[in-house]
Amino acid sequence: MTAVDPTLRATRTTCPYCGVGCGVLATPDNSGGAAISGDPGHPANFGRLCSKGSALGETLSLEDRLLYPMIRCSKGTMERVAWSDALDHVAHRFAHIIARDGPGAVAFYLSGQLLTEDYYVANKLMKGFIGSANVDTNSRLCMASSVAGHRRAFGADTVPGCYEDLDEADLLVLVGSNAAWCHPVLFQRMLANKLERGARIVVIDPRRTDTVGDADLFLGLKPGTDTALFSGLLVQLADTGALDHDYIERHTSGFEDSLVRARSIAGGVAATALATGLSEVDVADFFQMFRNTPRVVTMYSQGVNQSAQGTDKVNAIINCHLATGRIGKPGASPFSLTGQPNAMGGREVGGLANQLAAHMAFTPPEIDRVRRFWKAPRIATHEGLKAVQLFEAIGRGEIKALWVIGTNPAVSLPDADAARAALKKLELFVISENVRSNDTVNSGAHVLLPAQGWGEKSGTVTNSERRISRQRAFLTPPGEAKPDWWIVGEVAKRLGFGAAFEFNSPADVFREHAALSAFENNGGRDFDIGALQSLSDEAFDELAPVLWPIRLGDIQPQQRFFADGGFFTNEHKARFIAPEIPALRTETTAARPLRLNTGRIRDQWHTMTRSGISPGWASICRSRSSKFIPTTR
Ligand code: SF4
Repeated sequence: MTAVDPTLRATRTTCPYCGVGCGVLATPDNSGGAAISGDPGHPANFGRLCSKGSALGETLSLEDRLLYPMIRCSKGTMERVAWSDALDHVAHRFAHIIARDGPGAVAFYLSGQLLTEDYYVANKLMKGFIGSANVDTNSRLCMASSVAGHRRAFGADTVPGCYEDLDEADLLVLVGSNAAWCHPVLFQRMLANKLERGARIVVIDPRRTDTVGDADLFLGLKPGTDTALFSGLLVQLADTGALDHDYIERHTSGFEDSLVRARSIAGGVAATALATGLSEVDVADFFQMFRNTPRVVTMYSQGVNQSAQGTDKVNAIINCHLATGRIGKPGASPFSLTGQPNAMGGREVGGLANQLAAHMAFTPPEIDRVRRFWKAPRIATHEGLKAVQLFEAIGRGEIKALWVIGTNPAVSLPDADAARAALKKLELFVISENVRSNDTVNSGAHVLLPAQGWGEKSGTVTNSERRISRQRAFLTPPGEAKPDWWIVGEVAKRLGFGAAFEFNSPADVFREHAALSAFENNGGRDFDIGALQSLSDEAFDELAPVLWPIRLGDIQPQQRFFADGGFFTNEHKARFIAPEIPALRTETTAARPLRLNTGRIRDQWHTMTRSGISPGWASICRSRSSKFIPTTR
């Protein structure tokens, strides 16, 4: 596979929207736009695109773009400045606040829309050299439950399966996922399996979404009762002789405790039906389907993740797969569907406040390892503040400088009014953005830095199945827009850390990222792309989509994890997790009169900054609600 399709003369790149990570062919029209089609050679989509991806060519307008660095002047207005002045100002103000109040007084807030190289440089600067772990991301809002569930069960944030499992499963269970709208190309893949191989589809969701239209069984359970359903399933598997005792014995720990807890939550079909609001017939049907189908993939998405009990829901699902040994085998795995295009890449570099780097945590040996690799004597030694706590700390005046890169927390955070009020208290508020105006920019930014957008920037993203793909540039960046990795690196140099930030290209950053993943790894960490650490610039440019891990010396990547154990816990065994007995807050009261759920719009992405530019889709959504205002890139 080459970077350019020779027949179409199109650039091979990756869609910037959801975590499916579809390959795109982009053919510039030489007037700022491009013709877009699906890349038949990309293993995520084999040429298919959904409505959002197909309309990408209509979203390349420069109308609202931020083209030049701007700083708020003494009169309160934003004034254009030279890049060198903007970077000097940001570095000077950060240095002043760090010297006065310590590294805990500053923070970065990143985005699952960033490229891995952008994430890597920002994470390295804050954790390695400023010495604070106050780096969090909007991926916290969509993927944190899955990350925590994976780490509790597997000892690492590992997705055990791959997309081929969706082709090879006989039963596809979707929990809290409207895949027909939110992961449309993957859903088409599931439907092809249903059509060609007779796979059955079960949808578990309080809402009757479009996905339900193709389901063999729909379980419209009460909100917040997924843990009860999967606890009941674990009990049923145990009581009907469906456990894989050999797998449990050899590769797991904690099974008995989790089964006792499951019995106390939902000790049978009738109890499960009562807890979930489902009929006993439907519950029994689902239990029987799962029990009798070795090749089962259970996919979960925002309906599971965005919940006060999200982590327990993830583990209740994983428990059922561990108990039956249905993990990491063709057509059999639990499977987290990622929301954003590079939520996985952000997790790889450690772009969350409770991760250090490259799937290493804040344990003394791992801090020491990363410190030596980065040559970073001031490395952060404990976790930082996660998204919500971080903005609360801004509100209390404890964090005085914030750099937001490629996201719009003034809209997307819970309790957005409080977030907006907090932003106004900042002593230094820097934003790297594509657009001149959005809710966060309008919340009192002091410095605006113009970042390159999709089609202009170059680097890598990782999709839901651990597949790293290249996003390639095919347009000339407008105005003075720069790559995010470059902007952060320039500030790092001005802070005095130049030797550690001598990156001249995204390939430079990627090579270091790959080398860190392999550093003193020896199979002890799941994330290892050591085979890619010596790619030449040309090889990086031509890099074909590749799954991780691909370790030094590997010819082929490893496709799946855990079929034969090999977990990343200390004892190399998976842990069954006994979920908390769910506190059912599903009934409304006078004090809590509303029952809220989350959902997405089929033809739009986030708050429509890019997708809303497409004339057809924007008008459709405006007619649905006047509140859909383009806001994030
Ligand atoms: S939005 Fe998702 S499913 Fe649609 S084309 Fe882009 S990556 Fe593929």
